[in-house]
Amino acid sequence: MTKKQTSCCDEFDPNSLSFEQALERIQQSIQPIKGKKNVSIREAAGHILAENVTSPLNIPPFINSAMDGYAVKADDLPQTGEQTLRVIGKSFAGAPFEGNVNAGEAVRIMTGGVVPEGADTVIMQEHAEVIQDKTADNHIKISCGHQAKQNVRNPGDDFFAGDTIIKAGERLSPARLGLLASVGITEFKVIRKPVVAFFSTGDELKGVGQTLKPGEIYDSNRYILFGMLQKMGVQCIDMGVVADIKDEIETTLKEAAKISDMVITSGGASVGEADFIKIILDEIGEVGFWKIAMKPGKPLAFGHINNSLFFGLPGNPVSAMATFYQFVQPCLALLEGETVADPIRLQAKCMNKLKKRPGRKDFQRGIMSSNENAQLIVDTTGIQGSHMLSSMAKANCFIVLERDRGDVEVGEMVEVQPFNELI
Ligand code: AMP
Ligand code: MG
Repeated sequence: MTKKQTSCCDEFDPNSLSFEQALERIQQSIQPIKGKKNVSIREAAGHILAENVTSPLNIPPFINSAMDGYAVKADDLPQTGEQTLRVIGKSFAGAPFEGNVNAGEAVRIMTGGVVPEGADTVIMQEHAEVIQDKTADNHIKISCGHQAKQNVRNPGDDFFAGDTIIKAGERLSPARLGLLASVGITEFKVIRKPVVAFFSTGDELKGVGQTLKPGEIYDSNRYILFGMLQKMGVQCIDMGVVADIKDEIETTLKEAAKISDMVITSGGASVGEADFIKIILDEIGEVGFWKIAMKPGKPLAFGHINNSLFFGLPGNPVSAMATFYQFVQPCLALLEGETVADPIRLQAKCMNKLKKRPGRKDFQRGIMSSNENAQLIVDTTGIQGSHMLSSMAKANCFIVLERDRGDVEVGEMVEVQPFNELI
């Protein structure tokens, strides 16, 4: 990776926290929600499990066939030549064969069927020749080359009764719900979902459906936040648009903090004349920090108002999204008590020249794909204005450029962070 010289006109602000410091401070200040509730399996998707779950069963619960074919005794497998066996019955999934398999006998078996007493090996039907009798096809001929105990699934292959199958702090994905269902568990304890209240601030903002006057724009952040919060499955309360009037913002903030675990605002987080978020937070709560050496998203307030956490996101929609993604998302997961893994970052070959001034960590918008050699490549979405939502809408990853890096030349390797379903 080529590092460019830091210039005198770089963007370094000595009062800013680095991205990593900010993330660490946020993570350290989270107290996970304690409230638990019982949910049934149908309403559990996306919740965090509150207690370890142990299996009451071995899975698989019984020895069964992995193939459609014939259950036989391993002792009957021919070492050379061929062997003829008499088919004495059927064992289909859910309809076991009741008898015993003795020497010289086989049972027709389907995938998932119980391997009958006396048998321990399954011959795939493609490897058995059915000998047509006058009355019925009740003999098969098998040749050598089979392995004893092949094509069977043994009790406990996956896990045993008493094993912990999902741990407290793990999110209930469809795969984990399936796992719980497979052992017959349909009710369990989860952490209650966080309640998040949010609103936009700005005199210029109109809700969709309203008519715009000169100088006004539609509020996009509330719809972005609603979409992302909904995807995270939290309970969200949309408190609308609040004008840049200190008292009104203060009243709404206090009200929001009373009814939520987290309050999120957008806009007014900087130091302009119409920016009140930091001033109000200093008065009614506590500000953790408010400037981060990242782009987009330099003005970001984090703190708390009584028992509610607070994020004051920047007003520019791309900045609001990027900061939500990088900070609010892991914070909500920690609030729910989830064990959060670091995001996946990959190395990709950059296909364009990228402009970057040293001083802040950049999260540029990119489109990653693989080339004909299955190598990861990334293209920029174009001009990187933090007011330009179309670049976010086109992108499928962030191109993450380290704080001290300068311009990126075509062909240089860069770090990319693939988007998850939130964006
Ligand atoms: P601010 O952070 O309030 O200084 O706003 C920065 C820029 O983002 C300004 O151009 C605002 O008009 C714009 N902006 C603020 N809030 C929103 C919003 N909710 N939707 C769209 N643009 C916004
Ligand atoms: Mg504003």
